[in-house]
Amino acid sequence: MSSAACIFCKIVKGDIPSFKLFESEKVLAFLDIQPLSRGHALVIPKFHGVKLTDIPDEDLTEILPVAKRIAIASGAENFNILQNNGRIAHQFVDHVHFHMIPKPNETEGLGVQWPMQ
Ligand code: 5GP
Repeated sequence: MSSAACIFCKIVKGDIPSFKLFESEKVLAFLDIQPLSRGHALVIPKFHGVKLTDIPDEDLTEILPVAKRIAIASGAENFNILQNNGRIAHQFVDHVHFHMIPKPNETEGLGVQWPMQ
């Protein structure tokens, strides 16, 4: 299921370009266009749903393993996995997405290894 007006569905279809990190039948991961840090990535189910509660369980099973792989590939020792639901919770794109945000400190370099091996 996809939504014609949804920007992340357009990214899934390839109608909007993105820097893809991982793709499978059910999941797409790509770099955030306005990164909070180098390597800031988004992991999304291809199934269109606005909130986590809209997504069937079988479309969610790969998400955390993919976020984990991307975190490892980023080389960051410190990172956040975030997922926002609803405007008050700071969700601005209405297609479920998980952020993987590396948090480099002053002494730690960030050895981003894109594309993932
Ligand atoms: P939210 O606040 O909804 O959790 O985060 C949405 C994220 O999507 C933001 O970090 C924003 O930079 C990112 N984003 C919005 N539009 C695009 C786009 O067209 N391409 C990419 N790669 N990221 C986007």
